[in-house]
Amino acid sequence: MSKPHNQPVTYEDLQRLEVYGSALRQMRKMQFDGIPVPDHVSGPLDTFGEELAELGDWLEQRFEQFHKLQTLSEEIGSELFAENVLDRIYKTFSTLIPYDRIGCALLEENGARVRAFWAKADYPDMRISKNYAASMSGSSLQTILATGEPRIINDLEAYQRDNPGSKATRTILAEGILSNLTCPLIANGKPLGFLFFSSREKNTYRDLHHDIFLQIAGQVSVLIEKSLLYQQLYELNGQLMEAHQKLKDQAMHDALTGVLNRGAIFNLLESELCKAARTQAPLVVIMADLDHFKSINDRFGHLAGDEVLRTVAATIKDTLRGYDHVGRYGGEEFLILLSGTDTNMAVDVAERIRGTVANLEIMHKDGPIRPTISQGLALSDPSGTAEQVIARADAALYKAKEDGRNCHRLAPNG
Ligand code: GH3
Ligand code: MG
Ligand code: MG
Repeated sequence: MSKPHNQPVTYEDLQRLEVYGSALRQMRKMQFDGIPVPDHVSGPLDTFGEELAELGDWLEQRFEQFHKLQTLSEEIGSELFAENVLDRIYKTFSTLIPYDRIGCALLEENGARVRAFWAKADYPDMRISKNYAASMSGSSLQTILATGEPRIINDLEAYQRDNPGSKATRTILAEGILSNLTCPLIANGKPLGFLFFSSREKNTYRDLHHDIFLQIAGQVSVLIEKSLLYQQLYELNGQLMEAHQKLKDQAMHDALTGVLNRGAIFNLLESELCKAARTQAPLVVIMADLDHFKSINDRFGHLAGDEVLRTVAATIKDTLRGYDHVGRYGGEEFLILLSGTDTNMAVDVAERIRGTVANLEIMHKDGPIRPTISQGLALSDPSGTAEQVIARADAALYKAKEDGRNCHRLAPNG
């Protein structure tokens, strides 16, 4: 029995109005669950109560979703790289939107093309590879960017029948996907690309609310833009560091032979001397000099002389252990540092180098070039300087030259 409209307001009606009024005041404080649903609907006040309770439920759901999105966005915002942002979205967004696959495509060439950037699915055989690219001209994606509105296709088979030319639809159908939600990614007014949520069920996105997508697209766009910028910055920084390292390497190495240059081998000698003094380990310095190099240049030419220098430097380097060092100290002079090595062991090393160099045969049109080297060895004095040990090795080298070359001489202990 419905109550006639002209019936006077009862005390019970007033009480219910009071309850609804207080429920509305609660709603303003984001509390939506204090609205009693009438047992039966018999008059306008019952209908009002029912609608108010429905509104409360709806608002509660929406606020919960937005709150969730907010929390997820904050969490995702802690990621620095775009791929990690997307991985996090894949891991966490299922509480907001259903999906079996998420894909992200980014615009390139000033928006003329779109290229698949990232995709993840709960099945292994994804068909759209990372570098799948398509022209934006004539694509239905253009409308999505132009309107900024998400597009929902709840039956991809039907969509394919209506749009038989859509290659992307055919590919995604082949993965078993039947519904799709495409969110435009637009950050601060700048279109970036698209986020695709896909499901193997038809009609997955039918009952979802449109504004939550817009909200998602907005939040995600800003996060992705930030992460892409970070990635660019990171890559640029990597290139910069690489260039810096290259310059540093160049500054330390001899351009002709590739071994350390005079400054670098000298610095290394100073630090090895400090280490030797600290650890009491012996350190032997060898000054090696090509024999009659001037006549090699004179006979075969300067370019051939360069080739001999390169080959001899590489031979010395190859003969040494990983923790020994060689540097080009002068025109055709090399300084070799043997750390943790006593004179007996150093003599062995020197003889090995000498023998290997003496066996070299560098081919030249005017005949083979057979270089030899002489070496002066000096055991470092822990209290001596780099200059002092070099001078002793140099004096021993002079002796080796005097004694006929292609040999080594040991400096008396300093
Ligand atoms: P010794 O056995 O007494 O050491 O005689 P040497 O001829 O090797 O010594 P000398 O000091 O008379 O000559 C060194 C030569 O090395 C002279 C110089 O032109 C040459 N030289 C120095 N640097 C380079 C270089 O980078 N390339 C070439 N091709 N020659 C160089
Ligand atoms: Mg020489
Ligand atoms: Mg010389």
